[in-house]
Amino acid sequence: MDFARTGTTDSETALAGGHPDPWSPPILRLVCLDIDDTLVDFTAAGRRALRALIGRADMWPLWERVTDHHVAMVVAGELDYESMHHRRTGSFLAELGVLVDSDDVACFERRRRDLVRRSWRLFDDVLPCLDWLRAAGVQLAAVTNASGTHQRAKLADLGLARFFDHVAIAGEVGVAKPDPVMFHSVCIALSCDPAEAAHVGDKLDTDAVGARNAGLGAVWLNRDGGVQDVPPGVHAIHGLDELPELLVSEFARVGVPAQR
Ligand SMILES: [Mg+2]
Repeated sequence: MDFARTGTTDSETALAGGHPDPWSPPILRLVCLDIDDTLVDFTAAGRRALRALIGRADMWPLWERVTDHHVAMVVAGELDYESMHHRRTGSFLAELGVLVDSDDVACFERRRRDLVRRSWRLFDDVLPCLDWLRAAGVQLAAVTNASGTHQRAKLADLGLARFFDHVAIAGEVGVAKPDPVMFHSVCIALSCDPAEAAHVGDKLDTDAVGARNAGLGAVWLNRDGGVQDVPPGVHAIHGLDELPELLVSEFARVGVPAQR
C-alpha cells in the first residue's frame, strides 16, 4: 500500500516534490508525534485533578469544550497564553453555576495545574518507541496543539526533550492541526519533504486526517481501541509498540534496529 498518498491537493503534492513513484516508496526521514494522550497520559491526569477539585467525574467533556474554545483564541492571536488559563477556568466554573471572584479562579487554576503536573505520566510504550526511532536514524518532532511553552517543560520533566529535534506548538506557530501549515512548518524547519515524513497522534481528524491531507504518512494511535471507520490513507495502531513494524512496511530503507 502506498503510504498516505490519498487526499493531497495539487499544491500539497507539489510541495511533496511531485507525483509519487509507486515503485519507489519514500525514505522515512522524519516522524512527528503529538504529545498529549500520544506520549503523555494527559487526559487521565486532567480528569483526576478536576474530579478532586469539584467532587464529580462527569464534567470532563465540558472542561475539554471550554478549553478547546480558549486555546483556539490563543492560536488565533486573540488571547495571550497567560490570560487564557484564567479566563478558561473562570468560564468553566461559570458554566457549572459556581460564582467566584477572580482570586478564587486563580486559586482553583493553580491547584488544578499543580495536581495535573504531579500526576501525568508517560505511556509505557513511549520510551522503547522513541529509542527505536532514534536508532533508526530518523528525525523526531513533537507537534502539539497546546498553546504554550509549558509543553517544552513537560517534555523536559518527563525526560523526553533529548529525543526531539524540533517542537512545534500551535500557540507559537499561529495555526493548529489539522491545518496543513502546522505540519508543513515542521517539515520546513527540518528540511524534510512531507512525503518523507509521518505523523502519529491520538486524534483521528486532528492528527491523522490532517497529516494525510498535508501529504505526510498518517498514523492514528487508537489507544482505547474504540471501533471507528478508518479513512483511506490513514493507518491505525493501538499502541506505539506497533509503530516500528508499520513504518518498516510502508517506507523504503528505514533502518531496522533490534528492539531493546
Ligand atoms: Mg493528543
